[in-house]
Amino acid sequence: MKMRRLLVLLLAAAVVCALVLSGCSKQSSSEEPADAETETEAESNEGSVIDYMVLVNADNVLPDGWEEALDITTITNSVGDEVMVESKAYEAYCALKEAVEKDLEGYDKGEVRLELDSAYRSVAAQQKIVDDFTEKYGEDYVKKYVAVPGFSEHHTGLALDLYFTVDGKDVYENEDLVQYPDIWDAVHARLPEFGFILRFPEDGEAITGYAYEPWHIRYLDSPEIAKEITDKGITLEEYLGKTK
Ligand SMILES: [Zn+2]
Repeated sequence: MKMRRLLVLLLAAAVVCALVLSGCSKQSSSEEPADAETETEAESNEGSVIDYMVLVNADNVLPDGWEEALDITTITNSVGDEVMVESKAYEAYCALKEAVEKDLEGYDKGEVRLELDSAYRSVAAQQKIVDDFTEKYGEDYVKKYVAVPGFSEHHTGLALDLYFTVDGKDVYENEDLVQYPDIWDAVHARLPEFGFILRFPEDGEAITGYAYEPWHIRYLDSPEIAKEITDKGITLEEYLGKTK
């Protein structure tokens, strides 16, 4: 009998741990102290370099001192990968996730859960992506979809690549993700109000240099600006007047 009670307690503990690992859930109850799975490293000089409207693309390199000034939150996603995100962008993502999941309640293929694939990436990590994707998809694909190390928006911590689970199953690979345009529509519809834009829209390749990426969103820390960009159907480059 005692053994059984112990088992029940252990099971309960396991459930609590699983909830913590999912990340965003702890954000909704702000009274709770930060747990071990979610570390926030606040840098003393935050704000000196961080400009949420920064443009980093093939022609614009990451500003000096950016990575040192970045306030990063680290989470673990559904496939067990650690994901690093700029902390304000992460908070906004959690609110977006909650709204989108609510909108998709009753989705015909099953329950949808939004997940983070990748956000902040160091130059070394970007080089690894280039190597891995070259092997997996070939050089042409990499030229089209993957940034040169040092010139990726992911270095800012403000660019988030999303994926999702449907009915508990991970929909993770790019070729699988594009099979769910209805889910992407639901995600994209909610982006501006939380300060995000779809960074590489379908008709933006001539300006952004990137083909359509439904999963890559960019945090601007301003719902007003995000709405303006979205409503006008323009890219961040056009909004900033920094087209080639
Ligand atoms: Zn991306």
